[in-house]
Amino acid sequence: MPIDPGPRRQAEDLLRFIDASPSPWHAAATLAEWLEEAGFQCLDERQAWALEPAGRYYVLRDDSSLIAFSLGTDPLPEAGFRIVGAHTDSPGLRLKPQPAHVADAMLRLGVEVYGSPILATWTDRDLSLAGRVVLRGDSPTVCLMDFAEPLVRLPNLAIHLNREVNEAGLKLDKQTELPLLLTEVEEGLPAARQFLQLLAERLDCAEEAILSFELAVYDTQKGGFWGPQGEFIAASRLDNLASCHAALTALLAEDEAAATRVLALFDHEEIGSESFKGAASSFLGDTLMRISASLGFSAFDHQRALASSFLISADMAHAFHPNFAGAYEPEHKLIINHGPAIKVNANLRYTTEAFSQALFIGWCEAAGVPWQIYAHRGNLACGSTIGPIASAKLGVRSLDVGNPLWAMHSVRESAGSLDHAFLIQALRQFFACARIPVNG
Ligand code: ZN
Repeated sequence: MPIDPGPRRQAEDLLRFIDASPSPWHAAATLAEWLEEAGFQCLDERQAWALEPAGRYYVLRDDSSLIAFSLGTDPLPEAGFRIVGAHTDSPGLRLKPQPAHVADAMLRLGVEVYGSPILATWTDRDLSLAGRVVLRGDSPTVCLMDFAEPLVRLPNLAIHLNREVNEAGLKLDKQTELPLLLTEVEEGLPAARQFLQLLAERLDCAEEAILSFELAVYDTQKGGFWGPQGEFIAASRLDNLASCHAALTALLAEDEAAATRVLALFDHEEIGSESFKGAASSFLGDTLMRISASLGFSAFDHQRALASSFLISADMAHAFHPNFAGAYEPEHKLIINHGPAIKVNANLRYTTEAFSQALFIGWCEAAGVPWQIYAHRGNLACGSTIGPIASAKLGVRSLDVGNPLWAMHSVRESAGSLDHAFLIQALRQFFACARIPVNG
């Protein structure tokens, strides 16, 4: 399937975005940088906001959740908010607070599992570390850091020492078999010091200045295309940086719209969203309330605005894999490059209901975008997204959509080069919707 230059460019742009975002803190920083370049102004939650008509702003909460908005040209109580929600975090491995220890002649770094990655995929990869470090100062200062080069590794056990691996699968004990190999032990230097020296050198600071850190492990292999025509992409963190990037691209595509457009990109989705900056926090509700208030609208006007609003929760969906046909609901197979999936679950693990589904189909049709419907196999537990949490907190109608993805939660996931452009088109159409049709 030949890929047109337009969709190809958007997929390339996505891979650039992911490569620049090896951790959720970097993802938020990349988003902020791209928003600044597009003329969005940074707001601080501690300050009073004086919003200009048709202004474009963003606000960060604790370095890794970000809300951006572009004020609409129509009165907010009538037009409401058009919100696209997604998440900045991805499952993987995180360093323990005192990670360095000696095991025989090797210095190893202890890790904790973050969310639910496919652990076996982290073996034999060129891994590195990225995240944030807090340095001592008059008040503690946060620095982003990224080693960029391969630094650590989790070598597999040779098949001669693990004869059953191809029959039993690769199982890794999370305490004893996941520590990452860093280097040889240096004589006379405690392990903790050896690791701190490495951090301090990279940050160009004194070891004593390092107060704390949160460091994610990531794969240094860049994202790329595959398939005879480059019809597929492979990268880390497609779940869910692909949806963040699609939403950002759709927001930046138009300078203005009738309704106020909002991107709500949260950390901590992969671990349940329960934090002061996750989707279960007050962040989105607070921000929307402050937008209304700073435009001079009352609490009642704000409730009218919410009633006229809509939330699209965008997160990746499970593409059909022909080698494992039995894992899928046979009537709801998602085909890669056949458009975004509307995700439906009777128990509302996804927020889609008949009316919100109908609205999204309308936006896809208007944009000339194909769409598919996903339902999970009945005898398997279904995943979820930020959708149910965020829409319940706000009281805003919502649906869950996402592009088809192979190997969700692998260190290297793959998806369709065309689907990314399709989702961007559909989200642009949604953002352009001046009034959400009413039910009844
Ligand atoms: Zn996700």
